[in-house]
Amino acid sequence: MSNRSLNLDDTLYQYLLDHSLREHPAQLGLREATRSHQAAGMQISPEQGQFMAMLVKLLGVRRAIEIGVFTGYSALSVALALPDDGYLLACDISDDYTRIGKPFWHDAGISHKIDLQLAPALDTLDQRLGAGEAGQYDFAFIDADKVSYDAYYERCLQLLRPGGLIAIDNVLWSGAVVQPSQEPDTQALQALNRKLHADTRIDLSMLPLGDGLTMARKR
Ligand code: SAM
Ligand code: CA
Repeated sequence: MSNRSLNLDDTLYQYLLDHSLREHPAQLGLREATRSHQAAGMQISPEQGQFMAMLVKLLGVRRAIEIGVFTGYSALSVALALPDDGYLLACDISDDYTRIGKPFWHDAGISHKIDLQLAPALDTLDQRLGAGEAGQYDFAFIDADKVSYDAYYERCLQLLRPGGLIAIDNVLWSGAVVQPSQEPDTQALQALNRKLHADTRIDLSMLPLGDGLTMARKR
């Protein structure tokens, strides 16, 4: 895993950041607070956060879902792009990780948009479906345990409105997806990539951004 885009040398990557990155001070602060964490490689890259914020604005997203919060950088990026009355259902199981981000959410003035649910994401999503929230979301970002990605995708497809977008992270898995593998995460990503390619319920685009980002637009 990597928290920068694949296949750019250091010089070109720095050029990309120097000529495009626009971070809120709280985003920079949260990246710095996460840098020394032993799991810091799980954080999305800043250019990916900015791209997802662009998608949120282009789509006019009002209600979003995030599955896999970690220290909260992607949630902060999406929440900053939501309107002031926007809503982000943020799913994670770790208080230790997510509490690192909360002061930065507060400093950015977007805490009121983030509904952090600390529970297995499948339980949270099924509970929302049971509560009649199918079709009520505009955007979802899937970035938690890879073996559950397919289950998250199926739930998100129900929770999104037609025209809504699911962004799925790490679909290139540092390149491991091209080789046969016995490793469960790699196998799960390979199976999902195959399934989505043939899935007529969505429009599809797989981008070599970060560690590979699939965009699935619900038809
Ligand atoms: N999107 C985050 C960011 O940009 O910083 C990175 C998310 S990290 C790759 C994956 C997260 O998924 C971890 O914080 C982990 O605690 C969470 N997670 C793992 N299994 C989960 C589950 N069953 N339900 C909800 N969250 C889970
Ligand atoms: Ca990821």
